[in-house]
This record gives sequence, structure tokens and C-alpha cells, in this order.
Amino acid sequence: MATGRQIIDEVRSQGRTVLTEVESKQLLRQAGIKVIETELATSKEEAIAISQKLGFPVVLKIASADIVHKSDAGGVRLGLATAKEVGEAYQDILGAVKRSYPKAKIQGVAVQKMARPGIEVIIGMSKDDQFGPVLMFGLGGIMVEVLKDVSFRLVPLAKRDAAEMVREIKGYPLLEGYRGQEAADISYLEELLLKVSDFVAQNPEVSELDLNPIFAYRHGALVVDARVILGEAEQ
Ligand code: ADP
Ligand code: MG
Repeated sequence: MATGRQIIDEVRSQGRTVLTEVESKQLLRQAGIKVIETELATSKEEAIAISQKLGFPVVLKIASADIVHKSDAGGVRLGLATAKEVGEAYQDILGAVKRSYPKAKIQGVAVQKMARPGIEVIIGMSKDDQFGPVLMFGLGGIMVEVLKDVSFRLVPLAKRDAAEMVREIKGYPLLEGYRGQEAADISYLEELLLKVSDFVAQNPEVSELDLNPIFAYRHGALVVDARVILGEAEQ
């Protein structure tokens, strides 16, 4: 398993600043953040072999540093239950992405386990010119896209910041379990925010981070999509 340094060096050596989902998740896993098991396939046969190893159902996603929104590009297929479905999805994804992004450089297709549904939350990081790294927390989907229901704190986060970030959003009652729905593990989410804060503090090269979505469960949480962007290399 490559170290965080090796992953970043390899991305740099290819002249990139954007990590693919597979690379991003490897880096986060190194930092002790729980991500869904994900491996890169570069052929249909390999995608099937990885699926069989991980166990069905699986998810296939386009792996390209040039594609920000994989679903919009036709690059995500969920809930694949058999080797045949995986093989067909592999071809479909490559075909769809060739049409939507003819110039994108494709690293392959990421194969991952289908995660049990949870409450979708997101954690993001961007760098402010004056204040440096800022973490963002919110509920996934329309809550963040339409309602902009998010909270912010400067890195490094104190324990108390993490507790406040989770409770500040308007959607907080959803995390507590709304009308019989599964509640989220609030203290785990606080720990996750602190881990992400540590990761950002220890990796000043990282200029942007997007964990979207994270599935929050009654016990624990799991990152299912991740994107890390590095700052421009020093000359
Ligand atoms: P993008 O944000 O680039 O369009 P995502 O990786 O976030 O692509 O996938 C789109 C959606 O598919 C996610 O918001 C999530 O709801 C679902 N999804 C992605 N990966 C998984 C997975 N491993 N298990 C279950 N659902 C997933
Ligand atoms: Mg996503």
C-alpha cells in the first residue's frame, strides 16, 4: 500500500493537481478516515474480478481527474449484482463518458462496494486567502445545493468547534433521527471533523477537499465519494 507521500508524488509526477476518487480515498484512509473499499480496474475482466473479491452488489464509477461530476457525465452505476451487470456497466460508463467528455483522460473505472444507505452528509475544505483552511459541514443533496445549509470553522478545529458545526445546521434534527428514521452517530461525526482537520493541518499541500457524500449511520459513518485537490507545485 502506497504511503500518502507516494500517492501525492505520483500525482505530481504526472503533472496533475487533481486526485482521482481512488487516490483521494487512499490518502484519506492513510489518515485514519473510514472510506468505502475502492479499487481501480483498467479492463472489464479486472472490474469483474475486483467485484467478485469485494462481493456484490458493487458500484462502478469513471476514474478521471478531468471529470468533477461523475454522475452528470454518465459515469456512475449503482447496485450491480452480477458479473454480467458489472461487465455491461463497465462498457456503458466508458461509452457515456466518451460522449460527454471526449477529451477527458481516463485512468480506468473505480470498483467499490455498494454502501448501505445512511443520512448523506458532506465535509469540505477550501482555503481562504486571509484565514487559511476552512472546513465546511452540511447535509448532502438538496440541503446543501439548494438550501446552502452549512456551517464553517477555521482549521485547526477544537473539539468544541466540531460539536458546534454539527449542531449549527438547520437540518440538525434530521441527524437526531426524524420521524422514526435512523439517527446519525453525532459523536462519530464530530470525531470525523477533527480527523479531517488534522489531515488538512498535516498536509499543507492539499488545497481543496470534498467528501461528498458521507453516509452517516447510527454507528459510525463511511465516505463514499472523495476528491482531493493539491495546490500548484512550488517552482
Ligand atoms: P459524483 O458526485 O461525482 O456525481 P458520487 O461518487 O458522489 O459521484 O456518486 C453519486 C451518488 O451515488 C452519491 O451521491 C451516492 O448517493 C451514490 N453512491 C456513490 N457511491 C456509492 C456507494 N459506494 N454505495 C452506495 N451509494 C453510492
Ligand atoms: Mg459525489
